Amino acid sequence: MSERTVYLDHAATTPLDPQVLEAMLPYFTQQYGNPSSIHQPGRAALQALDDAREQVALILGCTRRELIFTGGGSESINLAIKGAALARQAAGAGSHLIVSAIEHHAVLHAAEYLERYHGFTLTRLPVDAAGLVHPDTLQAALRPDTALVSVMYANNEIGTIQPLAELGAICRAAGVPFHSDAVQAAGVLPLDVEALNVDYLSLTAHKFYGPKGVGLLYARRGAPLLPQINGGAQERRRRAGTENVPGIVGLAAALTLAEERRPAHVARLVTLRDRLIDGLLASIPQSWLNGDRARRLPGNANLGFACVEGESVLLLLDQAGICASSGSACTSGSLEPSHVLLALGLAADAANGSLRFSLGHGISEADIAYVLEVLPPMIAQVRAMAPCSPEREALATA
Ligand SMILES: *Cc1c(COP(=O)(O)O)cnc(C)c1O
Repeated sequence: MSERTVYLDHAATTPLDPQVLEAMLPYFTQQYGNPSSIHQPGRAALQALDDAREQVALILGCTRRELIFTGGGSESINLAIKGAALARQAAGAGSHLIVSAIEHHAVLHAAEYLERYHGFTLTRLPVDAAGLVHPDTLQAALRPDTALVSVMYANNEIGTIQPLAELGAICRAAGVPFHSDAVQAAGVLPLDVEALNVDYLSLTAHKFYGPKGVGLLYARRGAPLLPQINGGAQERRRRAGTENVPGIVGLAAALTLAEERRPAHVARLVTLRDRLIDGLLASIPQSWLNGDRARRLPGNANLGFACVEGESVLLLLDQAGICASSGSACTSGSLEPSHVLLALGLAADAANGSLRFSLGHGISEADIAYVLEVLPPMIAQVRAMAPCSPEREALATA
């Protein structure tokens, strides 16, 4: 075990900010009321909920009634996709869905569920080699029966930022509602829903130094939405269940802090990210950057290394105290290359040889220097143990 921990997996989750914890604490113990209760403790909890909603509305540039608190990013996304698509289908607007090929599984699997069980047809929009969705590709995919379009704001694996405003304008001109999974954007990109041309937008607190298990869905006034959790009248009947008051207070506090810190945070991340990317590309032969170089999340560095199994490198990195993630997921005991990297046109080997480093608040220049010192010999070590076959070399240099 290394004494040092360099956490470079902020795209997976972030630590709770101590200030956010501070804001949440009273709502676990002293202020324990149910916001639906008529008595004083209930009214105090309702007030906290109203204040949180107001804080978030200011940042998104929307009204309070357009906000729905949920149990996280996946729930927000499921509510948006199923809730909007089923409402549109019920209104006779059609049963065709469009999502990008590089969406998070919350979007892809919700859409596939509608395809399997509710008679929808699904178009997966291709992306270019840098991971960008082209507006004309979306334009060409729209049909008279398109019920909903969903394209993520920024990708969690490769960091590519999509031209949301342009995509949203195309949907609006066609009269089709537009959802965006903006989970990776909070705290680093602007979230103004008017400028972005979105009808629905999903967020989750634990990706911006807030608590896990609490999320947010923005649903534009009048946008179709059927509730996916039925019960009480909470969240204007769009999401039943006693509200997670401490979590919601934490989400609002975290988003407010993230918004205040955004300019300085972004500038700092970009410098560190570029040092990491340039340093690794320069010191490791047969390496490349996945995703667009310029239209990229400030904290994302995703690199591919020919002739290595990313998982083996992850284990070595972990022994050195460095936390990263790879371009593959272990599904039922075998390595499945990431659907995102495959959509860029990478071969399975190249996808499996990719590593994601996602930077955040705690990362220093010394941490980046440490990674630049230890990773190149690790790659060399892994390559020496499993020498490359000629066809893999050809793939990597193609
Ligand atoms: C983390 C993540 C999600 C899921 O959010 P949870 O709060 O973990 O459910 C969805 N989309 C993207 C892009 C993510 O990074």
